[in-house]
Amino acid sequence: MELSRRDFLKFSGVATAGGLAAAKMLEAQPVSAESLDLELSKPIGEVPTICCYCGVGCGAIAAADADKVINIEGDPDHPINQGSLCSKGQALAQMRTVNGKDNPNRLTKPLYRAPYSTEWEVIEDWDTALDMIADRIKKTRDETWLDKIDVGGTSYTVNRTDGIAEFGGGELDNEECYLLAKMARALGLVYLEHCARI
Ligand code: SF4
Repeated sequence: MELSRRDFLKFSGVATAGGLAAAKMLEAQPVSAESLDLELSKPIGEVPTICCYCGVGCGAIAAADADKVINIEGDPDHPINQGSLCSKGQALAQMRTVNGKDNPNRLTKPLYRAPYSTEWEVIEDWDTALDMIADRIKKTRDETWLDKIDVGGTSYTVNRTDGIAEFGGGELDNEECYLLAKMARALGLVYLEHCARI
């Protein structure tokens, strides 16, 4: 269809008038712009804490909803880990107490498994468990004590036991490790290891 200059101006005028009329009608309609009434806060408390699994001492943020830990994440403001956590740190929620209640999966009493037994027995108090440990250390040390050893016909004083080894845990701090190593050497132990080395 061919448009003359006069037709073009006529159609343009009609279209513009129609657009203005539609805009006028829209302008006349009141529009409601209310926001939804959403709850913006939840009963979640965030508390900074320190991972207890090893001597690195990473910072974490624990979030609890009522008496349940629902999230653990690295503390980005902590100078040591700067927001990161290893897999053990990320599993912290499995063992923390929350609002004074023990996690039901957390061990709170020492366990004992007798030689050749497949069952663990609960020992009711730590004094009993420590006495059992002390008795076994004394017995094993007495039975395996070496004053001297012979090397190529020459006798050397060693004053040690090869019957006991000490295994340190990553939860121990520097001072605890120092004291434990001192105690082990004083008892004549020569095999000292640590979980971080195996
Ligand atoms: S166990 Fe992992 S998260 Fe916990 S302090 Fe050690 S390195 Fe950090």
